[in-house]
Amino acid sequence: MHERAATDPAVPSAAPAAAAPVNWAGNIAFSTDRLHRPGSLGELRALVAASPHVRVLGSGHSFNRIADVDAGRDGALVSLAGLGGGVDVDTRARTVRVGGGVRYAELAAALDARGLALPNMASLPHISVAGSVATGTHGSGNANRSLAEAVRAVEILTASGDVVTLSRGETGFEGAVVALGALGAVLSLTLDAEPSYGVTQHVFGELPFRGLDFDAVTSAAYSVSLFTDWRGPRFVQVWAKQRTPEPVGFPWAAPVAEARHPVPGMPAENCTEQGGVPGPWHERLPHFRAGFVPSSGDELQSEYLLPRECAGAALAALDAVRDRIAPVLQVCEVRTVAADTQWLSPAYGRDTVAFHFTWVAETRRVLPVVSLVEDRLAQFGARPHWGKVFTADPARLAERYPRSPQFAALVRRLDPTGKFANALVRAVVGA
Ligand SMILES: Cc1cc2nc3c(=O)[nH]c(=O)nc-3n(C[C@H](O)[C@H](O)[C@H](O)COP(=O)(O)OP(=O)(O)OC[C@H]3O[C@@H](n4cnc5c(N)ncnc54)[C@H](O)[C@@H]3O)c2cc1C
Repeated sequence: MHERAATDPAVPSAAPAAAAPVNWAGNIAFSTDRLHRPGSLGELRALVAASPHVRVLGSGHSFNRIADVDAGRDGALVSLAGLGGGVDVDTRARTVRVGGGVRYAELAAALDARGLALPNMASLPHISVAGSVATGTHGSGNANRSLAEAVRAVEILTASGDVVTLSRGETGFEGAVVALGALGAVLSLTLDAEPSYGVTQHVFGELPFRGLDFDAVTSAAYSVSLFTDWRGPRFVQVWAKQRTPEPVGFPWAAPVAEARHPVPGMPAENCTEQGGVPGPWHERLPHFRAGFVPSSGDELQSEYLLPRECAGAALAALDAVRDRIAPVLQVCEVRTVAADTQWLSPAYGRDTVAFHFTWVAETRRVLPVVSLVEDRLAQFGARPHWGKVFTADPARLAERYPRSPQFAALVRRLDPTGKFANALVRAVVGA
């Protein structure tokens, strides 16, 4: 199934929209009827100067109001997709500079054409790089860190109209990438790249929780994803992505005979190739193919990141309430992420296990179950994904991030009047 035109409703033309622009999932109508698309840095700078309140929208794939302007504050919602900046690869230095509106699909194609690669990708290449790293987006793999960790420099147009560049090693850099859009408009990001590599993707069948050696299973390949429907104490399928030429040894479950989609009943043709067929890194690391609908397309998502050593106890805690989870669930994916250094990354400072939920697209039925899941995972210090549905009080989230005071200080330094802050940002930084 090819991607619907409606997949990009958040990036309409420059003309005022008849209705409020909405996010990819359609569950958020932004609090303005207009999305600005400046065509140059000068236009963007003028817009920022003239607007009391500004938020930058990436590809609109978040499921909550993180990208939104505050209602009633005369805010300007801005897309940088028309700003240019593109993808500039430095083959010799093995770095790449991407504009603030570029998506991973474009970045990956440009890198691969020059024999380079990223260390990891999220489940889909449709999302913008700036928007993804701003929320701590991640893929899977015991040794793979969040996507933000590939960033070596970030260039930001701040509220004053100045362009500030923060590079790895400089004071404040660890707060400037996973920044929730709070510091200004990210004009470009410079990322580390590595020599291109191949990947094989293998899908295995049922894997019971009973007797599960979580660390052994998740270290069986470069990237491992475990899927359960919570209709029983078992994973229904396991996706293992391995860098070539390493083989995948997976003695715990049998390979499946046919290609699968993570969501039961969805077409496998939307997914990257399986069956152990080698292919380029960017056509195997995401679950979903560029140009096709990712995931089910009709859904809400939540995700919680907690210390990896709690994986078994967290599985048991959720198993105890699976009768409540299963009726509103399309699929749940369990992944691992290595500890990182970005102050607001949900994987900050701890090797992590991430529990992801693709819910049915019915907010009223889903929210009570989201609260229940949060209640069960609170004992493990779970941090919600910044870009997905959560019910926790955002004002309490800073407590889960030991470096949140430093982040708040960085926000006050670069945006003293709160031009780029929305309700979520203010709750997190305590202003
Ligand atoms: C089908 C699907 C699958 C997903 N799979 C994964 C996954 O595998 N792993 C995972 O971790 N997450 C996943 N997500 C969540 C997704 O990665 C995040 O929501 C991510 O933030 C989306 O990027 P975006 O460009 O759409 O950001 P948006 O939702 O547009 O914005 C997110 C934040 O980034 C800010 N921002 C965006 N661009 C800029 C800029 N240029 N300057 C300043 N601020 C900016 C916004 O202000 C906002 O605060 C998935 C989402 C969907 C819909």
